[in-house]
Amino acid sequence: MNCLFCSIVEGKIPASKVYENDSVIAFDDINPQAPTHVLVIPKTHYENAAELAANDAQTLGELFAVAHKVAGERSLSGYRTVFNTGADAGQTVFHAHLHLLGGRSLNWPPG
Ligand code: 5GP
Ligand code: ZN
Repeated sequence: MNCLFCSIVEGKIPASKVYENDSVIAFDDINPQAPTHVLVIPKTHYENAAELAANDAQTLGELFAVAHKVAGERSLSGYRTVFNTGADAGQTVFHAHLHLLGGRSLNWPPG
């Protein structure tokens, strides 16, 4: 299977790593949409958040805990966490990833 984020987990493709433990890594998005735009991903491949939730709810929770930790380290006054699920919602990489966005005012509702 050819998966970009699995390649990042394996170190085959470089990434600006922000956090790592046994089950999760976080790294800067290559095309940031905010001053902080970090992707938090499970090391194990799941296609999207629903598949991750169905198979490993603990790691799903951990993604949010890591996002909160990074937001704290960067002293964000507020932040947004997003999973895009499906191409129609803008998902382009089919390895579950939580977007952490912050450092600017964020419009609601998002586009
Ligand atoms: P999606 O559109 O699937 O929700 O999010 C995929 C994200 O991955 C996008 O924000 C995109 O900028 C980011 N991305 C795509 N390729 C790479 C890459 O090679 N390295 C990093 N760090 N981010 C990437
Ligand atoms: Zn993968």
